[in-house]
Amino acid sequence: MNKLSNFIGGEFVSPSEDKYLDGINPATEDVFYLLPASTATDVEKAVSAAQNALPKWSALPPRKRAEYLFEIADLIEKHADELAQLESQDQGKPVWLARSMDIERSALNFRFFAECINQTVSASTHIPGQELNFVISQPIGVCGLISPWNLPLYLLSWKIAPAIATGNTVVCKPSEWTSLTAFRLCQLIAEQTRLPKGVINMVFGTGQDAGEPLVKDPRVKAISFTGGTVTGRKINLLCAQQLKKVSLELGGKNATLVMADADLKAAVAGSLRAAFLNQGEICLCGSRLLVHEDIYDPFIELLIAEVAKLTVGDPSQRESFMGPLVSRGHMEKVLSYMELAKQTGYVLSKGSRLMPKSGYFVEPMVVGELPPTSPLWFEEVFGPLVAVQKFRTEQEAVQLANQVEYGLSASVWSENLTTAMRVSERLEVGTVWVNTWLARDLRMPFGGVKSSGVGREGGEWSLKFFTEPKTICLHY
Ligand code: NDP
Repeated sequence: MNKLSNFIGGEFVSPSEDKYLDGINPATEDVFYLLPASTATDVEKAVSAAQNALPKWSALPPRKRAEYLFEIADLIEKHADELAQLESQDQGKPVWLARSMDIERSALNFRFFAECINQTVSASTHIPGQELNFVISQPIGVCGLISPWNLPLYLLSWKIAPAIATGNTVVCKPSEWTSLTAFRLCQLIAEQTRLPKGVINMVFGTGQDAGEPLVKDPRVKAISFTGGTVTGRKINLLCAQQLKKVSLELGGKNATLVMADADLKAAVAGSLRAAFLNQGEICLCGSRLLVHEDIYDPFIELLIAEVAKLTVGDPSQRESFMGPLVSRGHMEKVLSYMELAKQTGYVLSKGSRLMPKSGYFVEPMVVGELPPTSPLWFEEVFGPLVAVQKFRTEQEAVQLANQVEYGLSASVWSENLTTAMRVSERLEVGTVWVNTWLARDLRMPFGGVKSSGVGREGGEWSLKFFTEPKTICLHY
């Protein structure tokens, strides 16, 4: 059995209490690796290692640090097939998706921030004959990076790359459900790059026993967290006690708005992808589908026909659009929402557990005619369940889209630019897509409003989060 270790100060070390958690393949339910059940003692060692590496790393010229990031990007690309296999076995998503989305983006995250750090310039003001003011951006110090299980390497690398590019050192805590690609990345870095020891440290284990000590350690100067809103609130409180810088990318209950003049085929294809890609386990998934009454019937007919074509099955097969859900616990949560949908709504496309020999496979579900107060409109299910609703006016569509506590993203389908812009301006979210979904330009800010997060990451926003600006006033 493959037994993972923590990666601390460039060494692979066993957890101090020598206890391990099961790494389960959600397609087979087999325990296929063990991961360290790390505790505060392990976190303390990792933070010390990161602190030791900080002076030399932060003193390097950005161009030099960028070279290491390019090296890591190349390495991920070189091992992309292997990493995609591991991500699929650990998370459940199909291999083709892991390869084309997660692993490709993980490499791009390193490449993108290597390029960014080579391009940055800082602001200055000049008062002729008197004064020059200028800003230097300095690393914050040791940063704690905590990531979820749905896009494991993708989201972790989205944090590591800008953090180390800007001269910080990091301690990462990946989700206990998906530790494998983070561990393999550490192995590859240790074996095949010259990255100085202690710049990247990885501690595996639960949020309670490993994540929380990381947040609480006063030597950790910033926390970048992606995960659920309940956990985010807890972390925000812990950070507030130490006035620690924090970035929170949290949950979503995103609406897809299909206006009367939408291109029907494109809107159906986009809504389908938004609802069910990655088994519906993406924070940006469109789990609420609002359709104008004029096109509701043909839209639903086409949607249901397309849902029927989706294959849920063996994630190693190219024809599988969806693999299993990540864990038994998560599957049970999703199934309980599906049960509620059956009891209180009109099921347009049945969702239920598929029972091959093993695995947490669940069919996609489309439900309509839910009562307006149904939790299915308001709570994040994070699975293959989409609720559909008819609307009459643009005003009503916007009001329905904005009625939830979340505000991560939305997509609007309309052939009329004016309509699309008017609706986009009124949606209370961090990102709006018009006639597309999940397209990400890494130079753009990313994050949520309301209960979907605090702060923005991406491009210069990530660089700003991971640095402290200092104004120097030079009088002459
Ligand atoms: P969780 O909030 O349960 O966990 C996220 C991470 O935090 C995990 O590593 C977890 O460890 C850790 N954690 C849990 N409790 C604590 C704690 N008290 N202190 C420190 N760390 C802790 O989220 P999930 O992993 O279930 O991910 C799904 C959620 O993530 C969804 O709500 C989804 O919307 C959101 N998400 C948001 C994104 C965004 O960009 N806005 C992107 C992707 C997902 P452990 O694994 O042990 O639980």
